[in-house]
Amino acid sequence: MNKDRRERTSKLVEDLEDLKTLVLRGRSLIEAAGGQFDHYDRDKYGNASEIGGCIRKQWYDRNVDTDVEQDWGFARRGSHGEKYVVESLLAANVPLLHTLNDQLSLQDDTSSLSATPDGVMLYDEDDPVAVEIKTIDPRVNPATLPRGDHVTQLQVGIDLIRSMTKYSGMRRGIILYMDASNFNVLHQFNVLYDAKIARRMSRRAKTMLRSRTPDALDREGKSTGACRYCSHKERCGVIAAGPINQKVTRSNRGSGLHASVSLYVSAKGDADAAKSTMDACKADIMSEMEKRNVKRLPVGEHVVSLKPVAGRTGYDTKKAIADGVNLEPYKTTGASSVRLEVGSNTAA
Ligand code: SF4
Repeated sequence: MNKDRRERTSKLVEDLEDLKTLVLRGRSLIEAAGGQFDHYDRDKYGNASEIGGCIRKQWYDRNVDTDVEQDWGFARRGSHGEKYVVESLLAANVPLLHTLNDQLSLQDDTSSLSATPDGVMLYDEDDPVAVEIKTIDPRVNPATLPRGDHVTQLQVGIDLIRSMTKYSGMRRGIILYMDASNFNVLHQFNVLYDAKIARRMSRRAKTMLRSRTPDALDREGKSTGACRYCSHKERCGVIAAGPINQKVTRSNRGSGLHASVSLYVSAKGDADAAKSTMDACKADIMSEMEKRNVKRLPVGEHVVSLKPVAGRTGYDTKKAIADGVNLEPYKTTGASSVRLEVGSNTAA
């Protein structure tokens, strides 16, 4: 290749690479002109879309400056997916109100919660339905949907719609997931309003907003897997050793194994989130039944019961050995097995 041609080729490569910068810059300008992500002072409220997430992260987001630039990529995917779904539903004559630029932006000083529901479906004036639209990574297992934090977001949205708009009788909502890699794949979940969830989130928001330091706030992201994407890992202290910006290693990246590990980690995060939602709901159900003094209760299409469970019998082997009982003849060793552990690769 002669010198001129080499220079022309390298200039072309530079220009091509620079398109990424230009796309990001252009999108920032469009969003700044449209005020896409900043309608009000978000720091004054617990936002419906994040209030179910790590409480400590929410505190850091409001109280510390971070030199790690916020990555708006997922939010952009979400807003473009939402636009696609809304336009499609409107074209199909679905009576969907308060969408896109006309969305309800609700901030409630009493509950310290805010929400921006994606729309209100109004087939029946007496039965308005809140709509939340989400895009999902194609590797997400639909069996893990709906995600607990999305149900929480919808519940908070319905609660604020009921208390702050003319749709005070709203009793239900829909979460609609669209596969970000194939827009024809959609999953719908119908959710009944539960006032207790918004009340619980209001308490979380107030705790987080009133805390002067993060010290008393749990590192909830550790059990949900949220630390993976958190820009506060270092100050939060969840990184045991090593700086986060070590040289990137690409070992196995892009392979089938990488896809399996990523899916495993993502599914584990969803399972942990689902477990914490189940635990919270279980505590609510049991406390409500105890308050009503009932052991069995029909609830909609379900029946919930409280059943006595006998305590397990166990043996204190340590005490027995200390008391001189020889347990050696009864000792057994199970078959050995291998445990899978997946941790974070701080070099990647
Ligand atoms: S690093 Fe994890 S625990 Fe700490 S604030 Fe972030 S998500 Fe929460």
